[in-house]
Amino acid sequence: MSYRLAGKRVFVAGHRGMVGSALVRRLASEDCEVLTVSRDQTDLRDQDGVRRWFAANRPDAVFLAAARVGGILANDTYPADFLHDNLAIQGNVIDAAFRSGVGKLLFLGSSCIYPKHAPQPIPEDALLTGPLEPTNQWYAIAKIAGLKMCEAYRRQHGADFISAMPTNLYGPGDNFDLEKSHVIPALIRKAHEARLAGVPSLTVWGTGTPRREFLHVDDAADALVHLMAVYSGPGHVNVGCGEDVSILDLTRMVASVAGFEGNLVHDLSKPDGTPRKLMDVTRLKATGWEPRISLEEGLADAFRWFVQHQATARLSV
Ligand code: GDP
Repeated sequence: MSYRLAGKRVFVAGHRGMVGSALVRRLASEDCEVLTVSRDQTDLRDQDGVRRWFAANRPDAVFLAAARVGGILANDTYPADFLHDNLAIQGNVIDAAFRSGVGKLLFLGSSCIYPKHAPQPIPEDALLTGPLEPTNQWYAIAKIAGLKMCEAYRRQHGADFISAMPTNLYGPGDNFDLEKSHVIPALIRKAHEARLAGVPSLTVWGTGTPRREFLHVDDAADALVHLMAVYSGPGHVNVGCGEDVSILDLTRMVASVAGFEGNLVHDLSKPDGTPRKLMDVTRLKATGWEPRISLEEGLADAFRWFVQHQATARLSV
């Protein structure tokens, strides 16, 4: 009982973000009609506007990749916005999708929904088994509510709404702001700028011993399209590659991709964060999906994208 996207009207909410734009690229080969909406036309926080948009455009399927996102600093500074905007966006889109008879919806969460001290690799059923990481609890609480909303609409109304929880993603369209970005775009930018300026050293935050899992956003989009087709159930599905790497090894790989041959220097005033963050991807693998882009290839692709789009990339937010 697979859901076919061919011939359907498929709404990608959040098409300007890193995941949304990767979904639009991926859906180009699905023989479906992709619908998007700009914020000037319809602000997804506006319930009336969202209902009107669904009534007028009648999508068959929805990828809900729209969210207010940001790092530690942004979460800490704008907790009300993170809670309110994410609850409003997902509440409006999920409910309007149900009211307008959308056949399938996929809600996108994030690995930060899991408890701070979740077992590693993190299985789906670790959800709500312990306290969250306090710095991004605002975002995490909203995302947990979103996946519970999909579960509730399935239970009460029989709606085929599913949720996926991606691991750390990277690739084209990433945020390259050095203060607010995640580690891969930060290292890409620092290595490139150091090489160009002939600076002999590259600064790595922390000890370099923490381990993280990374998935290229094109692989993530492919996994989401796959789940849309083959998965239907109340439980969310982790989306990752199932392998992690130390920050030091990652830094060496980025330096090599960027042609930086100088030394690595550790800035120990910066936090290491959690020692390890790896998703248990047993459930995803059981659906028959495997990543295709190795970390080496993915980093080379992200680096090329950064160099080509430096002028327009998000260098500061
Ligand atoms: P996290 O996965 O939520 O901890 O987010 P990050 O991607 O920001 O950080 C992952 C790890 O990379 C942490 O141990 C950081 O200290 C380390 N790291 C090393 N250099 C950098 C850097 O330049 N920027 C960022 N953001 N992290 C870095």
